[in-house]
Amino acid sequence: MLFYPKRAFFEPKTLDYPTGKYIYNKLKELNIPVFIENKSVSFEKDFDDIKEYYAYAKSSLVVSIKKSMKLESCRPSADYQFPLVTGCPASCQYCYLQSNPNIKPFARVYANVEEILQNNEKYINQNKPKITSFELASTSDPLSVEHLTGSVKKAIEFFADQEYGRLRLVTKFAYVDSLLNIDHKQHTKIRFSINSKYVINKFEFNVSPLNERLEAAQKVYDAGYPLGFIIAPIYYYDNYKQEYAELLDMLRDKIKNPEKAEITFELIQHRFTTKAMDTILARFPNTEIDFSMENRQQKWGPYGVYKYVYKKDISTEMKDFIISEIKKRFPKAEVEYFT
Ligand code: SF4
Repeated sequence: MLFYPKRAFFEPKTLDYPTGKYIYNKLKELNIPVFIENKSVSFEKDFDDIKEYYAYAKSSLVVSIKKSMKLESCRPSADYQFPLVTGCPASCQYCYLQSNPNIKPFARVYANVEEILQNNEKYINQNKPKITSFELASTSDPLSVEHLTGSVKKAIEFFADQEYGRLRLVTKFAYVDSLLNIDHKQHTKIRFSINSKYVINKFEFNVSPLNERLEAAQKVYDAGYPLGFIIAPIYYYDNYKQEYAELLDMLRDKIKNPEKAEITFELIQHRFTTKAMDTILARFPNTEIDFSMENRQQKWGPYGVYKYVYKKDISTEMKDFIISEIKKRFPKAEVEYFT
């Protein structure tokens, strides 16, 4: 189901930009209440209950101007990351965004898309003649609001013209139709985030069902985009082997000529920080995510905090199992990393 906010808040200057105006007109046509922020009108409100705030935030959209143009690195996925959206309207309980205190639960979309894209060119030029890659999905699922913004389409068109720049994005949404006719020149790689039945049913909410994601994957592959899959988080539970094998069976049955498919896989085991665990338990008190320490070990994270990953023997078993199941079905596929 497409996300339509119950209300939207615009920073006043956003209406000076084509994307800001486009979103404003679109929401007006849809009869969604829009507010221009000023001293007495603001998205921010006080809530006593964190669950109430979360529900309010998840049903709101904020349109802002991105001011900071300094890009952060994004290893192992890409050289840099940049956002067109920060925060996400979906509610996956394990979401990596819960670990980042700077990312709020509402979707904030940026109106100054052209400025954000032009800024990337500086980084591309500094690195020439090497190719510089950019991740678009580090702070959100960028396709979650594409039907309201059209920003991903603009980004793909921008990168089509970049001889030395490449774009990567990952999504759990199937809304790819507006991207199929772009002359992308294979400079954008689209990856779909997929998971086992158990993980999807227990922990993913307000995203496209798996079969729709797989159909969308075939569509973008037919449209000539480089295609990849992220299996994340890989979660350890009783019959995880059977269910991840079933997931790969489904994928094999959806992708034409799986034995020849030059697709990639990125594999990320489940991990959490104590801060993320506290946030998740406050927002989803009935969550069934297993936070017990029995199967975990600490790993130092790039943001200066420890995270909990699976113990080495478990993560090695998961890694070996999933890679061998991928290779059985997709002999030409490349597994880019397991982390
Ligand atoms: S779709 Fe992605 S970004 Fe959005 S809540 Fe789920 S995991 Fe987080």
